[in-house]
Formats: sequence, C-alpha cells, structure tokens
Amino acid sequence: METTQEIVQAVQAAGVTGAGGAGFPTYVKFQAKAEVVIANGAECEPLTHVDKQLLIHHAPEVIAGLRAAMQSTGAAQGILGVKGKFKELITQLRQQLAGSSDITIAELGNFYPAGDEQVLVYDVLERVVPEGGLPIDVGCVVQNIETLYNVDAALQGQPVTHKFITIIGAVRQPVTVRVPIGVSLREVVALAGGVTTPDPVILDGGAMMGEVVSDLEQPVTKRTKMLLVLPYEHQLSVKRRTPRTVFDSQAIASCDQCYLCTDYCPRHAQGHAIQPHKLILLLASGVPLTDAQMAGAMLCCECRTCNYACPVHLSPGDIALNIKRDLVREGLKNPYHRTTEVDPYRDYRRVPMTRLVNRLDLAKYDVPAPLTAVPHPPYTRVELKMRQHIGMPAAPVVTVGDHVQQGDLVGEIIKGGMGAPVHASIDGVVRSVTYEAIVIEAN
Ligand code: SF4
Ligand code: SF4
Repeated sequence: METTQEIVQAVQAAGVTGAGGAGFPTYVKFQAKAEVVIANGAECEPLTHVDKQLLIHHAPEVIAGLRAAMQSTGAAQGILGVKGKFKELITQLRQQLAGSSDITIAELGNFYPAGDEQVLVYDVLERVVPEGGLPIDVGCVVQNIETLYNVDAALQGQPVTHKFITIIGAVRQPVTVRVPIGVSLREVVALAGGVTTPDPVILDGGAMMGEVVSDLEQPVTKRTKMLLVLPYEHQLSVKRRTPRTVFDSQAIASCDQCYLCTDYCPRHAQGHAIQPHKLILLLASGVPLTDAQMAGAMLCCECRTCNYACPVHLSPGDIALNIKRDLVREGLKNPYHRTTEVDPYRDYRRVPMTRLVNRLDLAKYDVPAPLTAVPHPPYTRVELKMRQHIGMPAAPVVTVGDHVQQGDLVGEIIKGGMGAPVHASIDGVVRSVTYEAIVIEAN
C-alpha cells in the first residue's frame, strides 16, 4: 500500500483533476485532512450517464480510488452516493463491498441538483457547508466518480489521457464513450451516429449547467462530460442563445417578486445569503454592481434551479451567475462566511428530476446511453489545452517536431503554482506549441 505522500505525488503527476465541474486539481484535495470522503455518483445533470456507466463497468477501480482518497486524507469513512432508483446497480455495488465496513452506500433521492456538493454533503451527513465554504470545512472531501477512476489509474502509473463523455439528445445513437482528450467535439458527436436535426445547438455540460458550443472544432478537455444535442428551436437552445441584455430586461419588466426562485434555490435552502429575486430588484433599481447586496450572487453555484422555479419562465439563474462572474472579474471577494442552518422547508422545495425533464421538454431524449466502444476512424489530431483545470495553466515542455507517445508529459505544473500537468493523448508529432495549447498529429 502506498503512503499518503506517494498517493498525492502519483495523483499530481498523472494530472488528475475534477472530471466535470470546475476541474479542481485532485492532489490539493488529497492533502487535506478529512473525516469522510464522499464519492459523488449523483449523476446530477438530466440525461447524463457517465457515473452510472462507470459504476456498472468499473466499480472495482472507483472503489480503489475512493480507498486511496480515504487513505490520503486520513478519512475513516467512505460513502458512495448513488441515486436510490438504481436498484440493480446498488445491489451490484453492495456485492463488491461485501465484508467491508469502511465504505457505505448512501441512496440519494431523484432530485436536481443532487450532485451539487453542498447539497450532497447535507443529504448524506446533514452537515451544512458554511457560506462561501467548501465541504472540507465540515470534514468532508467530495470526489467525482470518474476522478476516482483516474486516481486508481494514477496509482498504476497511468496519466489522464482519455475522457468519458455522454452524447445524447437529437442524435442517432445516444451513447457514452471514452475518447482521447484533445479530439474535436465534432468527432465526439459523430460517435453517436451523427445528429438528427438540422442546425443543432449543442450544450457542453448538459441542460442545466451546460454552455452553448460555439465551435465544434473545440477540443475535449478533462472537464467535458456531456454533449446534449438539441434542435435549434428547442426551448433550451432558444433560452441559452438569448443575449443577456434581453433576459435582464425581460426580468426587470416582468418579475413580480413572487420569491419562488429564491424558495427553490438550493444554496438559499442551506441558509446562505443568495436571493435571486432580490438581484432582479436591485438590477431594476439601478443599484451599482459593487453594492453590498449584490454580493449575495457570489454564493450562486450556477445550477439554474431557479430558472425551473420561475412561473413566468424568466432566467433568474442566468442573471445571478452573470452578476457573480462580473463581481469576480471586478476582483470583489465574497463577504459572506456565516455558519448557517438549513431552511426547515428545504425538503419540500426540491425539484423532482422527472418533473424537471418534462418541464424542459427533454422526456423524448431520456433514453439509455450505454458505455460503448464505438468503431471510429483513427484519431489523427489532438489539441491539448494547457488550462483544463482551476489554477495556473501548465507550461509546455515539448517543442515543434518532437515525437511523443500517449502518456508522455507535454505540459508541466508551473513551479510554485497550483495546477495540473498535461499528457499526450495519442502517439504522434508535436505540430504546434503555444502557451494556450499543444497540437499533436498522429504519425
Ligand atoms: S442558479 Fe439560481 S438556484 Fe442555483 S444557486 Fe444560483 S441563484 Fe440559486
Ligand atoms: S420566480 Fe420569476 S417572477 Fe418570481 S421572483 Fe423569481 S424571477 Fe421573479
């Protein structure tokens, strides 16, 4: 068994980062001391399948990664959070864990956003993460399922070179695939048999938290998890393409301050000082961005649950997250750090996943997307971004003309900075090197 230091070093050297969300470097989380490590198998976004497919096909690796996380952080308890509706999977996982008392399974409700780490920590342990805080503030480390799979691979000496992605929606064959990091999104969508709608709109990250893909030549990164393909006229693609000035002014003109968006906000339900309805009121009254009341937006987790809640289909979530991003750009710091208690009505204001799927007009796309080794033309080119994670970008360590093999280091962590190294995901020749990206073409 490896020592804590060996685990941290292996995870750092392999470039393991959060395989979804913001891409936090995993070795940093592994240096903390925790009581509990929670494996986040909540499968938060509607229609995503990656976590479930990994647990079906690679449970031993995920469990080994969870144990490594527990050893590294000194946590005596490991919890595997899985939606309770997946009965067969839970039976299979219980068999895998038979005889061990260090890891238990928490059966999660089928709500959105069950995978938000603060929601998950409360659902599993009834601990409330403080405003602006992290799960470690209440003794927990939360890890994504694919991240734990990558941790196990790192301990076998394998760096992160591939990514699991669900492609679903208006495609011929919804599927979950494993592809080299750096291939184009166009190549990934083709693995689902191509699109079934003219002029598709693709949300990278899913229906709730995903962003519109503006260029299909963009490369897959360590954070790419789901490509949701939608018709151009689908309500979600229309909403996401709406310019900010339009949804801001629609809200100013039509919001009746009914408070439902705030009632349904999962962070407000933790007692945190985020109130999307108030942000609209402030916008309407012309309050400057720097007003202290605006700062509540910094507690927004960008889940867009409040968009679902709004009875007149406004976009309070987009308003909140844009204000938050403005505040961050302005260099303002979150002033809220209170320890809070959950709203006593929290559990009555949760969003059932089936209702969300229906409300978003996604029911017809709610189909299996099994992990499949889809035949494909050879991957001939990858573009490896130097920043696929939170922190400093990696610094290139190769030059044009170098021959590299899959797994070779091509970008290293800048000395003294927090970041993650980047590795070649195919064999080939380095064709271009910039501070932003390295391009490798197959031999
Ligand atoms: S997007 Fe809306 S619901 Fe989600 S945290 Fe932000 S304000 Fe709350
Ligand atoms: S739910 Fe909609 S109408 Fe009600 S306060 Fe929020 S944004 Fe305004």
